[in-house]
Amino acid sequence: MLDPQGLWNEVKEKLSNNLSPATFENSFKDVNVVAKEENGVISVVVPTAFLRQRINTLYYNTINNDIVPKLTTQKLKIIFVLENEIQSKKSVPQPQPKMSTYNLNRNYSFESFVVGESNRNAYLAASKVAENPKSGLFNPLYIFGGVGLGKTHLMQAIGNYISDNDINTKIVYVQAQDYSNDYIKASGSKDFKQFDEKYSDIDILLIDDIQMLSKKPGSQEQFFKLFNDMTNKNKQIVITSDRTPTQLEGFMDRLTSRFSFGLSVDIHQPDYSQRVEILKKKALEKTEKTVPDNVLSFIAEKFSSNVRDLEGALNRVIQFSEWENKEITLENAKQSLDILIKSIKKEDNDYEKCLSVIAGLYNIDVSEIIGVSRKTKISTARQISMYILKTKYELTYSKIGSILNNRDHSTIMSGCNKIENELKTDEELKLAVETILKKL
Ligand code: ADP
Ligand code: MG
Repeated sequence: MLDPQGLWNEVKEKLSNNLSPATFENSFKDVNVVAKEENGVISVVVPTAFLRQRINTLYYNTINNDIVPKLTTQKLKIIFVLENEIQSKKSVPQPQPKMSTYNLNRNYSFESFVVGESNRNAYLAASKVAENPKSGLFNPLYIFGGVGLGKTHLMQAIGNYISDNDINTKIVYVQAQDYSNDYIKASGSKDFKQFDEKYSDIDILLIDDIQMLSKKPGSQEQFFKLFNDMTNKNKQIVITSDRTPTQLEGFMDRLTSRFSFGLSVDIHQPDYSQRVEILKKKALEKTEKTVPDNVLSFIAEKFSSNVRDLEGALNRVIQFSEWENKEITLENAKQSLDILIKSIKKEDNDYEKCLSVIAGLYNIDVSEIIGVSRKTKISTARQISMYILKTKYELTYSKIGSILNNRDHSTIMSGCNKIENELKTDEELKLAVETILKKL
């Protein structure tokens, strides 16, 4: 039987046979030391976060799914850690291995997640669940918020943390859409073997974008069984969604009411200083070049609606500098982001047009829609604006909030809901909305 260090040496040997000498040198030259082995998880030390990101992205699956199983029959997994992380991992008693993880992305960790006012509650709840998944305190944990704000990241961080601390946990990450597809495929062919293999005996279920199960009664029924089975056994479920449980439409009530049993937490848009923090961290992970502070501030100022766009902009700046073989400077950054920034402006023009059409219909000013007056006419126009920005432009509550004088996202959410409800009975309102939509 191989000792952990011996195993890592063999893995390196195999990698060196498969990669070009230069590539191998670049990634693995300084990755030599096994820090420890615990519960079948072997921690190998890497010198920098940048290198870890690269190894996880490019080689993690090959190492763990191809190479390790050929070298040993033991259930073992290799993870990459930084020197300063080694002490903090706790030990857990070791039952027989039954490891299985599905679809976890190694780069979504708690360490790579920047915490701020916009996501602190969600982060705290997620880390509590990760540290003690058997406590049953928050079951299910329900995380909701707009697109690109870190829901998937946080949910996967829970999975990665648990899997790094105990290899004997079956963790399944699945997009609700894929769950439904798996179910439809199984029931269509009347062959549930694969489906059951994947979805039974789960210790931790991470189900992403649950709103995708809307109007899919068969999948909901199946999920209802899984949900009850797991919660009865005190197994943890984490759910994400773009809205609260009560706002989900096309769902069986008994399902959505259960979603509220545990804890619901929201994530909203990061403020400016948090955006800068996120960029700093991502820059360190993505490039060995220095990204100057004025470039980070510039990006943080221009890309405010979600973290995905923020990260996309940073990627573009870095790639541009690599292709052109130039330093990263404010001037170069502006040039590489020019097209993206123009497209944001165009969108903003569209929203302005939308507000001015609504203002026109109610014979008021756009500034009144944005302002604070509570006169019936003005607040109706304001709520219609919220509703149309949400349904036609598919903006997030937070984005709409930022267009409408930084109102918070619960105000926007309740405005949208109010209009949506009233449209069911109020013919006059219906006509107004139709007229506006025609003009846009
Ligand atoms: P969502 O699931 O809410 O649509 P994601 O989790 O996919 O959003 O996040 C989009 C991108 O932004 C991912 O690359 C993720 O790593 C990054 N991201 C989001 N929030 C944070 C954060 N607080 N710190 C670091 N990265 C973040
Ligand atoms: Mg997501």
